[in-house]
Amino acid sequence: MNKPFNDCGVISRYREFLPVSDATPVISLSEGSTPLIHSPKLSAITGGEVYLKYEGLNPTGSFKDRGMTMAISKAAEEGAHTVLCASTGNTSAAAAAYAARAGMKCAVLLPAGRIAGGKMVQAYIYGASVIAIRGNFDDALRLVRELGETGEYAIVNSINPYRIEGQKTAAFEIIEELGDAPDIHILPVGNAGNVTAYWKGYKEFKNLGRSSKLPKMLGVQAAGSAPLYHGAPMENPETVATAIRIGRPASWDGAINAISESGGCFEIVEDSEILAAQKWLASHEGIFAEPASAAPVAALFKCHNQAGKTTRCTTCPFGQTTQGAKVVLTVTGHGLKDPDTAKHAVTEPIETDATAEAVRNALSRLNS
Ligand SMILES: *Cc1c(COP(=O)(O)O)cnc(C)c1O
Repeated sequence: MNKPFNDCGVISRYREFLPVSDATPVISLSEGSTPLIHSPKLSAITGGEVYLKYEGLNPTGSFKDRGMTMAISKAAEEGAHTVLCASTGNTSAAAAAYAARAGMKCAVLLPAGRIAGGKMVQAYIYGASVIAIRGNFDDALRLVRELGETGEYAIVNSINPYRIEGQKTAAFEIIEELGDAPDIHILPVGNAGNVTAYWKGYKEFKNLGRSSKLPKMLGVQAAGSAPLYHGAPMENPETVATAIRIGRPASWDGAINAISESGGCFEIVEDSEILAAQKWLASHEGIFAEPASAAPVAALFKCHNQAGKTTRCTTCPFGQTTQGAKVVLTVTGHGLKDPDTAKHAVTEPIETDATAEAVRNALSRLNS
């Protein structure tokens, strides 16, 4: 029998590993099963075997869809009418889309003026009620926790454990694709739900004998927004990578646990390094990532440069070597989410008459 069209997505692919039952209505947009793209150039530079898990190819353009299919399906099972979340942009896009799919209302609390253009448009077009908070993400999340206490709204931030459950499926896919876990996994860390989720996924498959080892986890923060790296919450986090502009990560303990249990480390990268990595990834491997998603590439460059020297990052897996190691980087979101920040790469086009000669002249000027 042919599979019905809706019989895909992470819940149907990994149902036995998720807290769902026959009573759970599956609200899915066929998220997950994203490509694990080999990076010949990063492999050559590091001497390892480097792969990019391209989560920007999920239905709303970020990994948040994996968690949201679970959170919204469970909210539907529990009879919720309205879902609520705080967001730096991608959670709200995913919540709005999945709520629309489920026929639920969705309200999103966003830090005023600090949401990337593409993400803002998504919240509106999927029909969410958008409230801009005069404050940052941490303020928005504090309010969501408070409003959630009445039981009036289903909260779909990653403080909702079903989000973590859905997001762990990315680790399952990587193990299935590589035939084992990688040696090193690098991802950006903001609210820290994803690093917590990957570590949970890697451990579950290891315990089931589906992989022989666990990767070292490398969590990357922006230098101006690095509470986990410094070991203390930050009041006014600042970075061009708005998806990780978070001073009080909700999954603090989960992140610390993933890093320490795995023998990995936290690393920081400057905004300039993030933007350079974003441009490098697009122009060398053809993958356009939003700024937060380029942070792992920036970290790989930074740590690799340090690897030959004595590095202050003593716990870092790169203090050892990437030579021969299998390395996976999560590209968490699509570059089209935040076209304004990518404008650093745009120059004034040369305008010409519509003749071949004029175009030839213009091209020769560009190449000189
Ligand atoms: C949410 C998000 C992150 C950060 O993930 P956390 O689970 O909050 O640590 C990183 N990159 C993108 C594109 C995101 O949307």
